This record gives sequence, C-alpha cells and structure tokens, in this order.
Amino acid sequence: MIKFEKRVKHAKILNPLKGFKEDTITFEYRKDPLTGRNTTVIKGMLNYVSKFLISDEELLDSLVKRTRENCPFCPESVREKTPMFTRDFIKEGRIFFGDAVVVPNLLGHAERSVLAVLSKEHHLKLKDFTAKMIFDGFKGGTAYLKRLETLEPSIRFPVFIFNYLPPAGSSIFHPHMQILVRDQPFYLTNLLLEKSRAYYESNESNYWTDLIAMEKENHERYLFSERDVEWLVPFAPLRGLNEVQAIVKGKSHLLELTDEDWLGIAEGMTKILQFYHEQGYISFNMILLSGPLDRHLEYFNVNLRIMSRPGIQGLGFTDAWALPYFLWDGEAVEEPESLAEKIRTTLIKG
Ligand SMILES: [Zn+2]
Repeated sequence: MIKFEKRVKHAKILNPLKGFKEDTITFEYRKDPLTGRNTTVIKGMLNYVSKFLISDEELLDSLVKRTRENCPFCPESVREKTPMFTRDFIKEGRIFFGDAVVVPNLLGHAERSVLAVLSKEHHLKLKDFTAKMIFDGFKGGTAYLKRLETLEPSIRFPVFIFNYLPPAGSSIFHPHMQILVRDQPFYLTNLLLEKSRAYYESNESNYWTDLIAMEKENHERYLFSERDVEWLVPFAPLRGLNEVQAIVKGKSHLLELTDEDWLGIAEGMTKILQFYHEQGYISFNMILLSGPLDRHLEYFNVNLRIMSRPGIQGLGFTDAWALPYFLWDGEAVEEPESLAEKIRTTLIKG
C-alpha cells in the first residue's frame, strides 16, 4: 500500500578536481510516499558542503558571552523582561513547569503564539539538552493548550517548534520552544491531514501505522522506539540535513499524549541531539505536528521532524536558499539509509 518510489538520473562532467577525468554524478528523485512531494538525494553533497556545517568555536564563544548580557530568558531576567498573559487568561501571568517558563510571544507568528523558555543555562551544546528539560517545556506548553481549550476552543491547531541558535532562525540564543496555535492548520499540517484521510479512505488503514510496520520490517531507515514513540529517517526528507522523523502511536493530537508519550519524544530528541553533537553540529530545527485538539482522528498521528543546521561562521552560510524556499522541493545531502546506519552506529557506541 505504501510505495517507496524513486527515479535515478545521471550527469557526466570532466572533473577539474580529478585532472579532468570523466565523472558521473547521481541524482535520486524520491517521492514522499504520502504527499508525492519530490526530494532529490545527491550522493557526495554532504562532503561538498561539510566545510559550512562546522562552527568557528571562538566566534561562537564570543557570541554566547555577548548575548548573555541582555538575555531576557536568563533566570534573573525572565520575570522582569518577558511578556505576561492577561489576568483573565492566567492569573499568575506566566506558566511554570519544572525549569520551564511559558510566556506569550512579544510579537507572535500566529494569533496564539507563546514561548517555553527551557533551562537556566544561557547556552547549551546539543549533547547537554536533557530529556527532563525538554519534557518540562512540553508540559508547560500543554498546560497552555489546556487553558486555551477551555477559553477559546475554536483555536485548535497547535504546533510546537524549536529553532535553536541563529542558523536555525532564532534571534535569541537562550534555549526556548515556540507553541503556535491557530484556528486553521499550517500548510504542512493541512496537507498531511488531507493526504492521511485520503489514504485511510482508499486503504482502510492508518498511513502512519502502516509506515511504522514497513520501516520496522525493512530496517533500512528505522532507528529505535522510545516508549510509544517510533523514530526513523524519512525516505524522502523535507529538507535533508540529518533529518529524522518520529511518530507517536495511537494519538492524533497533543492533548491525547500521556507523560510517557512526552518522555518518549523528549528522550528520543536527546538521542538525536547527541548524534548531531558528535557529528559537530550546534544548531537544529524541530516541528511537532498535531491534528485538531477537539477530536480523535483514526487516520492521523502526532508526528515530529528534527534536522541539524549549518555551523556559525564568519561567512554566514545558510542552507535556506532558493530551492527549498521558492521551488518547494526537498534535497537530501546523503542517502537517508546511510544516515540511519550512521545514527544507529553512533547510538550503539554511546
Ligand atoms: Zn539567557
């Protein structure tokens, strides 16, 4: 029922790096099995761009120091410099859960847009994110969603996102997640909801359940499970720099998740961040997608994507260029199967 389709094409050049000997470049056009969107896998590209993916440690250290001085999220400032909810929404003005603090966004990206500030540390290496830290942020965010559900039930499409450090689009260094909630789903959520429903109607089964079963059996891209959360490398990544996907079994929206589910996501994320750290990365993006909060959908599962971003360097290189931005295509810098193998090997060693 799920098809993993790809077409392979080649180009020939006389390569100056090899004394103008004939060289063949391979392009794999892969169809996302649910949406049909193309991702081109280009063998050798990771090696070609690798010099942009590492960071200038001295520059990074100086930016950490400079941004620490006026950071609104550091412990001594978070109660002085962050916005507060109106009294009718939350009497105390902010939501505290463990070490996480949830506050409204000063200038949001949706009609309901809040931040979960994590950790008392201003800067963390990716290996230093703990499951508890991430779990606290999720739980603080869930407390916000529950309040929203009571007061404004029509605003029912949430996403949790994480942009860590400037290469991932964050203007503030201090680790924080964002929770964006609208009355209409974001484009990607909507596309996945529509395609999942169509799959369910024609196959009489849940796409996400089928995907997990197939990937577990093939094992090429499957990584591990944490409690009821399954982790794998997608066949056709959305962006393709170390992109990993997670699927929560049996849950279609975020308010259905138990503490065990949240821990399964948080623990899996720390494993992937550990892998990124070992590969020399310092920055990442994450999205956690949910169906509507007011009903269970048999055809949809809560799912997550996480990817690493380029390093911090004087050149200011970015991988957010015309192809993903305007052409809406995906591009993977290595074969998803090789990435999965690399993650499995690193985690076993760790
Ligand atoms: Zn800070």
